[in-house]
Amino acid sequence: MATDRSDISSIPVPAEALPAGAPVPAEASLPVMEQFYTLQGEGFHQGKAAWFIRLGGCDVGCVWCDVKDSWDAARHPRYSISELVRSAAAHPGRLAVITGGEPLMHDCTTLTRDLRLAGFATHIETSGAWPLSGEWDWICLSPKKFKAPLPGIAALASELKVVVYNSSDFGWAEKWAAQTNPACHLFLQPEWSRSATVTPLIIDYINAHPQWRFSLQLHKYIHVP
Ligand code: SF4
Repeated sequence: MATDRSDISSIPVPAEALPAGAPVPAEASLPVMEQFYTLQGEGFHQGKAAWFIRLGGCDVGCVWCDVKDSWDAARHPRYSISELVRSAAAHPGRLAVITGGEPLMHDCTTLTRDLRLAGFATHIETSGAWPLSGEWDWICLSPKKFKAPLPGIAALASELKVVVYNSSDFGWAEKWAAQTNPACHLFLQPEWSRSATVTPLIIDYINAHPQWRFSLQLHKYIHVP
């Protein structure tokens, strides 16, 4: 999922990428656009130290996507699961956020299992447009109109985060909120380029519908990845 981090430089991935074309099982490596240690900027866990792994590959096609470089998985080097976990564990935080692209285009079973074995809580940010795989401690579902989530994932979401581009997105948000479980946390987040326009609309909407909360992209204001 795009987290609007294209305006910052990311920490380059380590140099131990697998050789191109290396004959490894699909689950043993994943294409990685970037990985970095930062503060979670959005949603329920905002402000917590977290290791982000941005997987390559997305076919959702959001017109306002700001990580379009992530779309083609083949453009990004594959890293072994063991290397990904080792890089994550080099930092003191034990919260791992798997994002993209659309991370569920890949089988996340091995990555999440091994991160958990290393002591991490595993969080995902997904559009829900691909089947769920992996062992997750937190599922942030961000449904996109351009390719809707698959049935069933909304009920599993810990957090529903809807990006608001215009006022029609409130109806979209309510459609998916109705499919979540009662414990799911509901967030509305302005699309970054439209923030000045839609922020007042979101404030008014939340005042009238207080089950929702405002998600501010904190990392953009404090200038961290
Ligand atoms: Fe971009 Fe949309 Fe794909 Fe996220 S889901 S990476 S915003 S196209």
